[in-house]
Parts: sequence; C-alpha cells; structure tokens
Amino acid sequence: MTPTPRKPRLAVWKFASCDGCQLSLLDCEDELLDIAAAIDIAYFPEAARGVIRGRYDLSLVEGSVTTAHDAERIRDIRARSRVLVTIGACATAGGIQALRNFADVRDYAAAVYPDPAHIDTLATSTPIADHVPVDFELRGCPVSKRQLVETIAAHLAGRRPVVPAHSVCIE
Ligand code: SF4
Repeated sequence: MTPTPRKPRLAVWKFASCDGCQLSLLDCEDELLDIAAAIDIAYFPEAARGVIRGRYDLSLVEGSVTTAHDAERIRDIRARSRVLVTIGACATAGGIQALRNFADVRDYAAAVYPDPAHIDTLATSTPIADHVPVDFELRGCPVSKRQLVETIAAHLAGRRPVVPAHSVCIE
C-alpha cells in the first residue's frame, strides 16, 4: 500500500508585535477550514495548543527583533523552515517600536517601567530580513486576509504569491 504523503507543515511565529497580523489569519474563518484540510498547522499558539516540532514547510513570521533572544530564535526558525514569509509592518520594517531606533531606548524604559534595570532589550527594533534571509514579505498593518490566503494557497500550489501592496496605518 502506498503511504499517504505528509501534508505541508505551517508554523506561525510571533516576535515583538501587537498580534494584529495573526488575528487577520484567524479572521480567515472559512478559508482556514479549507487550509487546515490541506496542511498541518504545526505551530500556531494563538489558535492551537498542539505543537509539531522539527522542520516546517512554511513559516509565517509576525513581529520585529528587539531582544538578543529574538535574534537567536529567528536564526533557529530560519534553519527549520523551507519557506519563510514575514507578515506585517513590524516584521518587514521594524514596526512602531522602531521609534526607539531614533532615540535612546533607556529613556523609554525609564519612562515606562518602575525598575528599568530589569529590562533586557536591544537598542533597536529591526525587521526579520536584517537577521535572516526572507523568501517573501507581506506589507501592511495589519496584513489582509486576502494576502494571507493567497500566500498559503500559492505555497500549496508551488507558485509565487500574487499580492498587491496593502497598507492601513504604516508603510
Ligand atoms: Fe500589529 Fe501592525 Fe505589527 Fe501587524 S504590523 S503585528 S497589526 S502593529
């Protein structure tokens, strides 16, 4: 008997962000049901408890790199992802948190936290592409349902996504 081929594995990762782009993915509702039939959602903490460890066929990455741990984590994710797509202004451009790049982040920490000495953060917020090779970027804040569905459908069909530029509040 011929073994059933393994379904492609999708992972959704969060870095420094507001979760809005992941919520756009959850908002796909009906499309997500079709997507779930065609792929294994291997890692998506916002939507599912189960975790399939190992390698992923498609990683969607939301958020920017703002800590040394983030920088280490995205390198590990890249090494385990066949295709890596960044989603949203945080991941593609550093997001609103990149305002720190034009000031001293210690001043912001002192203004917000009662004990800023415990805040372990980088001086900058940087896009994912500053740290690892990225296969495709989805721009927008947040990205749209259509961009996400087209990107996943294109991946399943083995073609490049056709997505127009999309922008709400940044970029
Ligand atoms: Fe939130 Fe906008 Fe960043 Fe998406 S790009 S995570 S909506 S701030």
